[in-house]
Amino acid sequence: MRITLKRILELAEADNMAIAAFNVTSLEGMLAALSAAEELHTPVILQFANAAHKKYISLETIGPVMVGLAEEAKVPVCVHLDHGENFLEVKTALDIGFTGIMYDGSALPYEKNVANTRYVAQLVREYGVSLEAELGCLGREESESVSGALPSEASYTDPILAGDFIRQTGADALACSFGTVHGIYLSEPKLDFERIEKIRKETGVPVVMHGGSGISPGDFCRCIDRGVRKINFYTYAAKFAGDAVKRLSEENRGNLYIHDVFATARESMQKTYRETLKIFRNEKGDGN
Ligand code: 13P
Repeated sequence: MRITLKRILELAEADNMAIAAFNVTSLEGMLAALSAAEELHTPVILQFANAAHKKYISLETIGPVMVGLAEEAKVPVCVHLDHGENFLEVKTALDIGFTGIMYDGSALPYEKNVANTRYVAQLVREYGVSLEAELGCLGREESESVSGALPSEASYTDPILAGDFIRQTGADALACSFGTVHGIYLSEPKLDFERIEKIRKETGVPVVMHGGSGISPGDFCRCIDRGVRKINFYTYAAKFAGDAVKRLSEENRGNLYIHDVFATARESMQKTYRETLKIFRNEKGDGN
């Protein structure tokens, strides 16, 4: 069942949990994410980061498959564009049937980010779907797994500015910088939990965490208890699937068939997604 970003985040709010947003680059990844969500009877977001992943598959090819699989899923699914960079990309995703759009104007000067985000908010409303915007700098591309340091606090999202940003743009959710980065962490992440609370209070909208790979279960729960409702997660699932394929190749003395590679990768991703979805349910909370 395909539902909007706003609706799926309302489900998360009702249960004080976060919805996992898994980036997809292949059929195996989509099936792994949906099977894990169906096993656990939990809503999920399938998202495509066109800017980072178009070298593997185009939005026009993967988008309709994401929409078709979401329609048939036994759990609520939002089909989302991750880090939309320009209006054409956003319009293409909307025409395909995406039910959530992220417009990322975070690298632009503040006023330009406001103006562009406000324009995209109007556009997505015409399609009856919802918008995630970004303020503050998260750093590093989705698919990168090479060097990269933790962001400096100067690039963290300012809660007061975030309140102004949401009032001016009408975005439904806000991706914020409070200590996470995309890709593999090179040193232990130290998250600014208080900032999440303040942003939530000033904006009144769900906070989105990018860079979920490498965050501890306890820290996930602390973030969820303070208002994070969507968590983007991909790098670890991709890396662990790669590790599983490496093992398969090392153990295999005969021919290695590509369908076995795909099956091994899917099984590994499904396991990672199952474990991740369980944590994001936040059944115990963080206890403080
Ligand atoms: P990871 O790279 O930490 O898995 O995060 C993915 C993400 O934030 C996509 O926008």
